[in-house]
Amino acid sequence: FVNERTYQKYLEEGREEEFHKEFDKAVNELSSGIGKEYPLIIGKREIRTNEKIIVTVSFNSDLRLGIFQKATENELNEAIETAENAYKEWQYSDWKDRVEIAMRAAELMARHKFALAATITFENGKNRYEAMAEVDETIDYLRYYAYLLEENRGYIREMESRIYKNEKGYSVMRPYGTWFVVSPFNFPLAITATMTLGSVLTGNTAIVKPSSDTPLSAYNLIQILRRAGLPDGVVNYLTGKGSEIVTPALKSKRIAGLAFTGSKDVGHKLAKDFLDVDTRPIVMELGGKNAVIVTDKANIDKAVEGVFRGAFGFGGQKCSASSRIYVETNVYDTFLNKLVNRTKEAIIGDPTKKETFLGPLINSDAVSKYVKFVEEAKKGGGEILYGGEVIDVKRRLVKPTIVSNLPLSHWLWKTELFVPIILVTKIGSLEEGVKLANDVEYGLTAGIFSEDQKEIEYFFNKIEAGVVYANRMVGATTGAMPGVQPFGGWKHSGWTGKNAGGPYYLLSFMREQARTMYT
Ligand code: GLU
Repeated sequence: FVNERTYQKYLEEGREEEFHKEFDKAVNELSSGIGKEYPLIIGKREIRTNEKIIVTVSFNSDLRLGIFQKATENELNEAIETAENAYKEWQYSDWKDRVEIAMRAAELMARHKFALAATITFENGKNRYEAMAEVDETIDYLRYYAYLLEENRGYIREMESRIYKNEKGYSVMRPYGTWFVVSPFNFPLAITATMTLGSVLTGNTAIVKPSSDTPLSAYNLIQILRRAGLPDGVVNYLTGKGSEIVTPALKSKRIAGLAFTGSKDVGHKLAKDFLDVDTRPIVMELGGKNAVIVTDKANIDKAVEGVFRGAFGFGGQKCSASSRIYVETNVYDTFLNKLVNRTKEAIIGDPTKKETFLGPLINSDAVSKYVKFVEEAKKGGGEILYGGEVIDVKRRLVKPTIVSNLPLSHWLWKTELFVPIILVTKIGSLEEGVKLANDVEYGLTAGIFSEDQKEIEYFFNKIEAGVVYANRMVGATTGAMPGVQPFGGWKHSGWTGKNAGGPYYLLSFMREQARTMYT
């Protein structure tokens, strides 16, 4: 298994210009083809509903990206019926066939990677480098999960008989039934993929409900899986309002499992409703309030670059975004000056342009939240060292924001913001930093910058988080790669404790059957 690294590969081969040309071409092609209508996919049927959802282009709200269907309980019930029927056979499918489907889908994705990346940029405003990294991540998930199925021989293991000679036993991991998959706007392709693949590659069937801000990437994913040979009905695609399809889905006993990535509050509510009806498995990756500690022993330039990228990459709209920065006293001023200067350089604007670092926020609610948080930080005694301004309301462009001196008791220190705002404070020691870092209900990612091995070990041992990094320049707490950094959270940031893109992920979607026979 080798990770896909498209942009880096073009760079290494001295073909950067070609990368940009390809991306520009994909942007042009997409621009001339947008505004189409996309159906629901239930089995092999493409369904149109009376009511529609209009999705506009991230960087130009006057342009229609697509027209999507607004499914209701009727279509949900049809999808459940279809998925149940497909499950009858799919649960017994040969794992080798599932490996082949995943590998074929990876190939198809690799062939269309520029179009898929441009679609992400059009949908959620991610810049071209991060959009391509997301396509790479999706290809990685396909190949990595295929590799896991191979490595574990389909999760069928012969057990040893220690007492009876005539006894033969196996542990067989088997699916549950139909999973309901609810995916977020920030990784509309990759996160939709990991949860969908977790379901269907293990013999379950799935009904996928993407975020209404970004339904097109999920549509692309489902079509690619179908073209790669996934039988009709194994994966179904529903768009619509949460209250009209998610709420009744959770109440249905015919849904066997729930996979969700999104905010903690929504996740907890869904989980409660889901478990009220029946005891059944849940896979959830929830929010974060991710801390970075910069010690006196840090290489400050590394720390500045890492925090800048971790905090402001995709406008802080990643669960993994660096959000609270704890800096030891001796390096505090130097670090902050350099961080402010680095942040000033960031180019904000049209995400399809190659020079753009930060595009628009996802929607106008996000801009309102940004404005409110900046106000609250000021009111609470925080000092805005940089940013704090909306550049263009209509285009949803805002400045990355660095806040210092906000009292540690302020609620902003405990709340996931999901906009480009970070809080910075001084600490007297690494120990104090770790204590503060752990003092939240979240535990997703965390980072340290220090050149001292002992400090790094202390941090790794004491920090309460599922994904931890030392000296990560490419984005302090962000950018996990499948098969390299399994991604998932502790405490209120996760549910199963088995990280996406890690060796145990698929197990969350299966239940064990111990089979014993006597001769
Ligand atoms: N896996 C992504 C990362 O490591 C974050 C996913 C998320 O935001 O949920 O940056």
